[in-house]
Amino acid sequence: MKMKSLLLVAAFVGSILAATAAEKIVGGPKGGRLLEVGSQKAEFFVTKDRKAEVTFYDAGLKPAALGAQVVAITAEPKSGRKTLELEKTANGYVSKTALPESAEPYRVVVQLREKADASPKNYRIDLNLDKCGECKRAEYACTCDH
Ligand SMILES: [Zn+2]
Repeated sequence: MKMKSLLLVAAFVGSILAATAAEKIVGGPKGGRLLEVGSQKAEFFVTKDRKAEVTFYDAGLKPAALGAQVVAITAEPKSGRKTLELEKTANGYVSKTALPESAEPYRVVVQLREKADASPKNYRIDLNLDKCGECKRAEYACTCDH
């Protein structure tokens, strides 16, 4: 009996920790959202003309030259899923077209691979470009605890 309740408590605490880790948003230098790819950091950022941009950084958050990383970005508005065509920049990738105009927030999936044969890591981002009144960041990159 005692063992069983201990296990229940452990499972409960474990689920709280997992939920917190999943929701914690780290802000990037441009005002976007910081993601991890292998040992590197990558920032997902939406430019003024609504293009989706991914910038890679070194450990000190200085822009890093684009290496072998592979990025795929899929927008999932109600009107239907759309994979964005990307072009390379000095430090990452930017979409050739703007993110679809649609009722927000909608889901954007950013898939990062350290290199072509590495296992992909998917980040699901709720695209909401409204500005948060507290941290003054766009809501998709809001670092507040609400
Ligand atoms: Zn905020």
